[in-house]
Amino acid sequence: MSLIEITEVKKRFGDNEVLKGINLDVNRGEVIAIIGKSGSGKSTLLRCINGLEVINDGSIQVAGAQLMADETALRTLRLKVGMIFQGFNLFPHLTAGRNVMLSQTVVKKTPKAEAETMARKMLDRVGLGHKFDAYPEELSGGQQQRVAIARALAMEPMALLCDEITSALDPELVSEVLAVVKELAEEGMTLLMVTHEMRFARDVCSRVVFMHEGRVHEIGPPDKIFDTPETPELQRFLGMI
Ligand code: ADP
Ligand code: MG
Repeated sequence: MSLIEITEVKKRFGDNEVLKGINLDVNRGEVIAIIGKSGSGKSTLLRCINGLEVINDGSIQVAGAQLMADETALRTLRLKVGMIFQGFNLFPHLTAGRNVMLSQTVVKKTPKAEAETMARKMLDRVGLGHKFDAYPEELSGGQQQRVAIARALAMEPMALLCDEITSALDPELVSEVLAVVKELAEEGMTLLMVTHEMRFARDVCSRVVFMHEGRVHEIGPPDKIFDTPETPELQRFLGMI
């Protein structure tokens, strides 16, 4: 059974149908890149998987927990998948360590000492073990995004959803964040990432999804998607025509 099973998912905002029947199964340990034009529904898809949006039709199943259309009890789902955004959304008045501890103590009711141990471990995992007591403003954008990754990991998610997590970074800071993601991939984390980093997608991902106008327009291994795209829409997106 796949870890994430997305079946005929539709999502509307008013009368704007943004997802028009998405089907996608993600296996445990799989790393999938989602590419496509702005407005094609990439972020909305991730937000639906994370339970930040209520779907209008279809179903999303994560590790056996089913999310049906119109269901509002999304908390279970949100605990199973972590999400990282373009903006790091760290609390400026809290240290890196406190930021990583917060959702554990608030959402999971983890005792403070245990949350701190986990926070130290996860900061260490993203190469920031020495920054536990640093405030966000004392960290570079790349470091702040790595703290955000540590925060997501501390919740022990079964999968991580990344929405353009390097897009707000200065070019020289992109690689340190991608290196962390690559390590997670190699350790077997299931990853679904919206990205413009085509080289990274080619190197690290097992499959690439090209979204176009609310549909999975083309899907396949990176070599196939990037070298021999079938549809004119993908060829155009890749700048081939
Ligand atoms: P992408 O991430 O591929 O750029 P999005 O999923 O953000 O695309 O957006 C897809 C479409 O859904 C866009 O037309 C956008 O305006 C619309 N949309 C996204 N979120 C909302 C919202 N909360 N309310 C209304 N429309 C939205
Ligand atoms: Mg987006």
